[in-house]
Amino acid sequence: MNHTTPNSINEDVLEFCKEINTSEEPFFVEVVPYEKSEFQECFSNVEDYIKKFGGKMQIGWTIWEIPKKFMEAEFHAIWVREDGAYMDISPKPDGEKKILFLKDSENKFKGKPVNNIRKALVDTIEIRAIIVRGDKFFELQSKYFDGSKSKIPSFEMKKLEDFMEEFLSAEIKKDKLAGKIKIGRNELCPCDSGKKYKKCCMSLIKRNN
Ligand SMILES: [Zn+2]
Repeated sequence: MNHTTPNSINEDVLEFCKEINTSEEPFFVEVVPYEKSEFQECFSNVEDYIKKFGGKMQIGWTIWEIPKKFMEAEFHAIWVREDGAYMDISPKPDGEKKILFLKDSENKFKGKPVNNIRKALVDTIEIRAIIVRGDKFFELQSKYFDGSKSKIPSFEMKKLEDFMEEFLSAEIKKDKLAGKIKIGRNELCPCDSGKKYKKCCMSLIKRNN
């Protein structure tokens, strides 16, 4: 499941934005990708754009959501025209035509990757996995940052996917033991005894919930 631009500036969005910057309100910005712009390179994109067309840079956060489930803020730069109008000139992975943007002028781009800010609105395995994967991916981005770009080797991505597979099965086991996921009577017991659930922890788990 992918996050996307919020449809509206709802309560979840406003609360999340307040946690990031109390002195600004988010607003929508049109995305008009400049042909020479690259993914994930908003700062150099805007710098190049200013050299050609004037204007200035505005730093802040792109706000993404999975409605009612998850919020994410991505450190981002957009372009400000001479007359003060805002435009996002960097392409979006899912082709979004607009972004929700929160100004953060105090924050400076220090020439290295900045982690996204992630917030779970519900506690599900899926959302836990999105957050853990995001943090792990950021570790790799930082590790392989060469001063302008992050080139993460494919063996590292393979390791990350293996890690996520293990993470997911551990989380499923945890939720089964906590009684949050239903277990079939004839399934193997999540306690790793090797016995069927009905002959092992079924009475314990059921009693606890
Ligand atoms: Zn058991």
